[in-house]
Amino acid sequence: MLTVNGIDVFYGDLQVLWDVSFEVREKEIVVLIGANGAGKSTTIKTISALLTPGKGSIELDGDRLDRLPPHEIIQKGVVHVPEGRRLFPEMSVEENLIMGSLHGKAKARRFETMDYVYELFPRLKERRKQLAGTLSGGEQQMAAIGRGLMSLPKIMMFDEPSLGLAPILVQNIFDMIKRIRAEGVTILLVEQNVTQTLAMCDRAYVLENGRVVLEGTGSELLENEKVKEAFLGI
Ligand code: ATP
Repeated sequence: MLTVNGIDVFYGDLQVLWDVSFEVREKEIVVLIGANGAGKSTTIKTISALLTPGKGSIELDGDRLDRLPPHEIIQKGVVHVPEGRRLFPEMSVEENLIMGSLHGKAKARRFETMDYVYELFPRLKERRKQLAGTLSGGEQQMAAIGRGLMSLPKIMMFDEPSLGLAPILVQNIFDMIKRIRAEGVTILLVEQNVTQTLAMCDRAYVLENGRVVLEGTGSELLENEKVKEAFLGI
């Protein structure tokens, strides 16, 4: 469904991705793992067109994405739930959700989708008039996921959704991601929470210093000596 073909990415003169290739098949949960600075966020920012690859291409169902502006990427069905949630803090939960549905089909089906988001996250319904900046961390993550769902995505990319959350909330967020996949949305996840994400994913890629160095199913990588040593402290 989503194919990244040999991308190089730079910040100015500084190259941070080298020939990165991977694919995400329909209805899979695929995880990118790697240490701080390995290039995970850069990879999904490039898919979202916040960065432009210097070489290589990105395709969704065979159509090139890497020449489109960010709002067209969203309309194609690729949504990015960013690290740190990036809600509009002075706007209510409901207004934040509306910001996820500004165009086309998503706009036309806005209130129907909002009912679905409130069904997934009853807490957001209770807090729909509350300013997003006053929500707890877990509630903010729900609102960020809800805003992403409002664009009617085919594929959702999550950048460290568990960051800063208590363990019980981390499990809730991962359960929610599995439920979203069960409803037909493909998932690309960037995480440092390696054990839990490898246990829940279909396949994973390991990034090291801007290169893909390993790939496999979640269970294969959980058993891999290099992964155990580098990420699991075993
Ligand atoms: P983390 O989990 O710490 O966010 P990451 O794997 O997501 O790590 P990236 O954020 O993609 O890593 O960063 C990859 C490299 O690019 C790092 O060396 C980082 O310092 C560098 N980098 C990231 N953003 C910028 C930027 N705006 N300008 C210059 N260099 C950057």
